[in-house]
Amino acid sequence: MTTTGYLYHEVFGWHDTGTFVGDMPADPARGLQPYQNYEHADTKRRIHELIVVSGLIKHLKRIEPRLATEAELRLVHTQRHIDYIKTQSETRLGGDAGDLTTPFGKGAYEIARLGVGGILEMVDALYRNEITNGYALVRPPGHHAIPDQGMGYCLFANGSIAVKYAQQKHNVGRIAVIDWDVHHGNGTQDVFYDDPTVLTISIHQDRLYPHHTGLREEQGSNSGFGTNLNIPLSAGVGNAGYQKVFAEIVIPALRKFKPELIFVASGFDSCVFDPLGRMLLTASGYTELTKQLMEVAAEVAQGRILMTHEGGYNAVYSPICGQAVLQELSGIKLLDDPFADSVDNYPSQQLNSLQDHEIALAAALLTDLPTH
Ligand SMILES: [Zn+2]
Repeated sequence: MTTTGYLYHEVFGWHDTGTFVGDMPADPARGLQPYQNYEHADTKRRIHELIVVSGLIKHLKRIEPRLATEAELRLVHTQRHIDYIKTQSETRLGGDAGDLTTPFGKGAYEIARLGVGGILEMVDALYRNEITNGYALVRPPGHHAIPDQGMGYCLFANGSIAVKYAQQKHNVGRIAVIDWDVHHGNGTQDVFYDDPTVLTISIHQDRLYPHHTGLREEQGSNSGFGTNLNIPLSAGVGNAGYQKVFAEIVIPALRKFKPELIFVASGFDSCVFDPLGRMLLTASGYTELTKQLMEVAAEVAQGRILMTHEGGYNAVYSPICGQAVLQELSGIKLLDDPFADSVDNYPSQQLNSLQDHEIALAAALLTDLPTH
């Protein structure tokens, strides 16, 4: 029997990213009118609200978050970066995580630590066998943060810290991180680039963000060579394309690497209505990807999957995707996607020859992935 862990705390919605225009501050001289930041509380808060209103919450095991310690942040981050976020977070008007694109309000340091600590609590719950899998609906996100800097709305590398924590505290050996956020998981790649014990796979819209990383040629270095797989795709890939990526690359890679635990950097910005991404995944697409991961996790990892929330900027459809993924993880089906009739039947959901070609190029990387 499956027990699904679930993490959310209201204060995640109080992480204040202010007004921003895309990835730029307002600037009247350039015609940039101030507007709500894309990385805004509503998209995530509304996922949580749907999970409550639908009744799914009653079937999930709530995980109580705690503040991550500085020592836990140091599993990935430099003391300089931690001190920088802490200092900026104490100022009256808040600060920025280091790239001038990641603004935050006063108190963000504690909110971010609560998100990280919550994920670590979920790891502990997994290894106390209280849950089989879980979804951490945290904010701020984490997969862009690198050891010495935050970037791309991310303050700390939430998921990567949890990977290191699972290895150190629970003696987990090999771990895989599957990143289906529409942007490249550059931070995760950076942390584990030399590490043969962590397989990192990122499926993303080619050079959307960051603009110069996520290429197939970035395969890891030293003893970690072969364990970083980037699958950059042109805009417009739909459900069939993502299924093929999973069938031909992600699932075979997991069977080859045999991780003991699978993390997912879960972004709903690969969805059909996202304002930042240009992919076409729908709730049924995310459901199918989740199902396939659960099947391979049952084979190699005792079913152990932990998802950490990353991007997703459409406030209407992100909740539908979140509900779908959590329904699949828990096996409790309560709602169908009310948009399915239209979005699942777009002709562009089908695979085209360009996508087929790009997937074949990425599949060739499997040759360099060590077999366990
Ligand atoms: Zn993203």
